[in-house]
Amino acid sequence: MKYNYMALAIPGFLLFILLEYLYAKKRKKNDVYKYESTVANLSVGVADRLMDLFFSASFYTIYYAVYEHFHLFNIGRQWYVWVFLLLATDLVWYWYHRLGHQINVLWAAHIVHHQSEEFNYTAATRITVFQAFIRTAFWSLLPLMGFHPDMVIPVLLLHGIYSFFTHTRVIGKLGFLEYILITPSHHRVHHAADEKYLDKNYGDIFVFWDKLFGTFQKEEEEPVYGIVHPLKSYYFLWQHFHYYMEIWVAFTKAKTFKAKFTALFGGPETMNPNIRVLLERKLRIHKHKDHTTNNFKTYLNLQMVMVILALFLMMLYYNYLSVDAIIAISAGILITLVYCGSLIEQQRYIYYLEIMRLFVPVAFVGYHYGYIFFFGITACTLLLLLFSDKLSTWYRQLFFDAEGEKQPKVNHNSTVSI
Ligand SMILES: [Zn+2]
Ligand SMILES: [Zn+2]
Repeated sequence: MKYNYMALAIPGFLLFILLEYLYAKKRKKNDVYKYESTVANLSVGVADRLMDLFFSASFYTIYYAVYEHFHLFNIGRQWYVWVFLLLATDLVWYWYHRLGHQINVLWAAHIVHHQSEEFNYTAATRITVFQAFIRTAFWSLLPLMGFHPDMVIPVLLLHGIYSFFTHTRVIGKLGFLEYILITPSHHRVHHAADEKYLDKNYGDIFVFWDKLFGTFQKEEEEPVYGIVHPLKSYYFLWQHFHYYMEIWVAFTKAKTFKAKFTALFGGPETMNPNIRVLLERKLRIHKHKDHTTNNFKTYLNLQMVMVILALFLMMLYYNYLSVDAIIAISAGILITLVYCGSLIEQQRYIYYLEIMRLFVPVAFVGYHYGYIFFFGITACTLLLLLFSDKLSTWYRQLFFDAEGEKQPKVNHNSTVSI
């Protein structure tokens, strides 16, 4: 049997999330976890794991190709090479991470990791496939230097696992380890939006790179977590793409070459915050209702259980699934994640997303088993349902009460210029 045992990382991480949640609750630290934030964080994490299924093999292929054709030195596989490799990966990580904060096009991918205003293990899962592409470019330096990919890949996996455990508020300072490793305390500083903590502690495993390059800051006051201009939105697609859109607007509005260059490669501090405000208004991003019914959380919880279970089973049985099944399950997971974000944000179109989601298993059964008649009838019925205002209103009222139908609390009259 060729199970994909990487799938076991999912229950492993979930166990630590549960332990942290229970511990925080026992210690009456009720602000460690917030419901909507947890759903949003896990949604980003699920999407990342899903994309990783499709792309990680090609990332590994790149490492092997770079090593085979371009490696500069013949570094062996002696035991001490592992030590050098660990240091080299950590140094590459430091610069990959630091530049990810200092260059707009790279920050657009990394910002997703920093959007959470709660700092806990679920925030560690906020990684995107865009970051994975950028990371691969940086990490290709290792096989280029001559480290064999058979050694590079396990060390990179170790990095990924290590960084999960630095995302917690329930572990205090760790004595002498604070002088050697990036601890939860150091990484809390990195996730802070406070002025004194900004752009500090980029390291992943070892703390000395930050000390060497002048970016170290020890934790003093409890940080305020998140980004400087908080997103205040749990909408899945907006979280992923807002900064790319901001760059695009800044780039197209820029009059000179220098300004265009800054829009792409300048630092986040050069981004005009009004661009986001304008985009939020245009796309009606902010939720406009606060009255949810009892069904809201029950249904949302069910969605999260379903996507996590679907991802786990798909990863585990990946080698046994047909391409059709993989496409159908992936589409189902992605639409559900967009749906969950839209449900939290109380968007009016959740009904249409629900219909779209129902279309996925219908299309799978119709195409995979050749049940054209079944597909035709069901697809037409779903299409007709799309136009039913009555059903759409009834559906929304399952989750939001009548108060929720009021207009957005956005002042469209005030002016914002960029
Ligand atoms: Zn960062
Ligand atoms: Zn982090």
